[in-house]
Amino acid sequence: MLLIALCLASGLSLAHAAAFNGQSYVSVADWARGNGLKCSWLKRGDEIVATNRTTRLVFDKDSRMAEVNGINVALSFPLASDRGVLLAAQMDLNTTIRPLLYLPRFADPKRITTICLDPGHGGKDTGNHTFWHSEKTYTLALALELRNQLQKAGCNVILTRSKDTYVELPDRPALANRRGADLFVSLHFNATPTGKDEVEGPQTYCITPVGASSTDAQGEGANYGPTTANRVEQRSLLLAYQMEKSLVQSLRVPDRGVRRARYAVLRDATMPAILIEGGYMSHPVESKKIYNAGYRQQMAQAMVKGILAYQRLVSPPPPPVAPSTNRPAAKNPLANWNKISTNNHTW
Ligand SMILES: [Zn+2]
Repeated sequence: MLLIALCLASGLSLAHAAAFNGQSYVSVADWARGNGLKCSWLKRGDEIVATNRTTRLVFDKDSRMAEVNGINVALSFPLASDRGVLLAAQMDLNTTIRPLLYLPRFADPKRITTICLDPGHGGKDTGNHTFWHSEKTYTLALALELRNQLQKAGCNVILTRSKDTYVELPDRPALANRRGADLFVSLHFNATPTGKDEVEGPQTYCITPVGASSTDAQGEGANYGPTTANRVEQRSLLLAYQMEKSLVQSLRVPDRGVRRARYAVLRDATMPAILIEGGYMSHPVESKKIYNAGYRQQMAQAMVKGILAYQRLVSPPPPPVAPSTNRPAAKNPLANWNKISTNNHTW
């Protein structure tokens, strides 16, 4: 049951502020209007679209995902409806929606030079296993392809494993931390025991906000304290968003959304860190693509694009090269990145 709370200080009317299960909720329409977005109902009382020139948000009471410029992003708390007013948890607006809309440009003055790739599983840990295919084989194949493409773009790449070896989970982010990596990208493929014909497409995880439950929480409570990764949570969210967007748009596959998890490989990373489930080995069509080197090459291209899109948002462009200098040009990591074609989506 919704408990209506007075919220006079914030200027919200009685009907538009509420507390539910200890979370404070506000009217989606009020919040959107306060942020310069125009609201209209797609389904009265249940589904709202909020837009301005560059942004389109969709909130649907029956979905735990909000749509942010066409990409699904998991909310930590369900939406609610009270007397025809659609309500969202203030925490979701603060930790998920606002950072995607308002992260200051050039939030990270350091350009990305080193990326740590983490091929999931390995050795005695096969990961998902369907027929004679093991997840560990394809995460490594994808990581080697992605390493190749990133190196061609002028980037340093560290792998947590380059062979079929077992690496403890905590050792993976520890390596990235020790080597001063700028990004940590863990690669996995998914499987589902039910709905094998229906469930397909990538999903990209980043750290769960403090005080929230993870998207697919399996008994993990919201009381989990802050992790190292929460220090750079907003940049991890932005990286996850750009990665999911690039994968979905480049590969034309269903969008299973940006999600939250406190996976061991994410929570100890000191740099922006994401875990990508590249697709479903249990799906009859998608599995065949995952086992195909050509498709993994396309997937790696999409990942490079996602990283590049993220870099453009958080880091300033490189200084222009002076034409008249006789000095040899300093090694400019990612010097070739601008030559890689990217879709210039409105942000
Ligand atoms: Zn896995």
